[in-house]
Amino acid sequence: MPQETLTPDYSLLDQIEAVGPFQTGACFQCRKCTNGCPVTFAMDLYPDEVIRMVILGQREAVLGCRTIWVCAACETCTTRCPNEVKIAEMMDCLKEMAVQESVPSPQPQILTLHETFLNNIKKWGRVYETALLPTYLLRSGELKHKWQAGTWQDEIKLGLQMVSKGRFPLLPTAIKGKREVRKILAQHRQKP
Ligand code: SF4
Ligand code: SF4
Repeated sequence: MPQETLTPDYSLLDQIEAVGPFQTGACFQCRKCTNGCPVTFAMDLYPDEVIRMVILGQREAVLGCRTIWVCAACETCTTRCPNEVKIAEMMDCLKEMAVQESVPSPQPQILTLHETFLNNIKKWGRVYETALLPTYLLRSGELKHKWQAGTWQDEIKLGLQMVSKGRFPLLPTAIKGKREVRKILAQHRQKP
């Protein structure tokens, strides 16, 4: 383990609790969160380990871990926690902190999806799938990969099926409060 991951930064806990509060300090390591999590197979730190490392001030290790990116935000952990630690919400906070502190993501595709998704909402006020998918495919390099692998036709077929089922509207639906949504996202970005 690199030396910097062993240097504690105890401001980390205060910093994320200021965004929450997530009750992180209430964790007594029962592991109920981890035992219910459906994505542990893809994680490099289990949810209870992320909590412990936050308390121990392991900033680099926590912000650089794969777990915060593969977390599906299903909230099973939050529901199971006997101490009402808001684990899922804390994972989201850590993800935003990693972006703001320019910590490289070990899952760049998910980072690209995260950014594309937030930009999409910022632009349209709600998710506009018709723009989301092509933008993600282009930004992530997936389109190039699919083109080289000869599987790009599958995406076209899927897109046409979605259009035929009314899941891909040609025009975005206008919503009220687009400005408010942008304001919330901007505040969220500034918080950590
Ligand atoms: S379920 Fe709650 S108390 Fe138990 S390890 Fe997870 S966060 Fe800690
Ligand atoms: S919210 Fe994330 S960490 Fe919690 S159970 Fe779901 S996938 Fe696991």
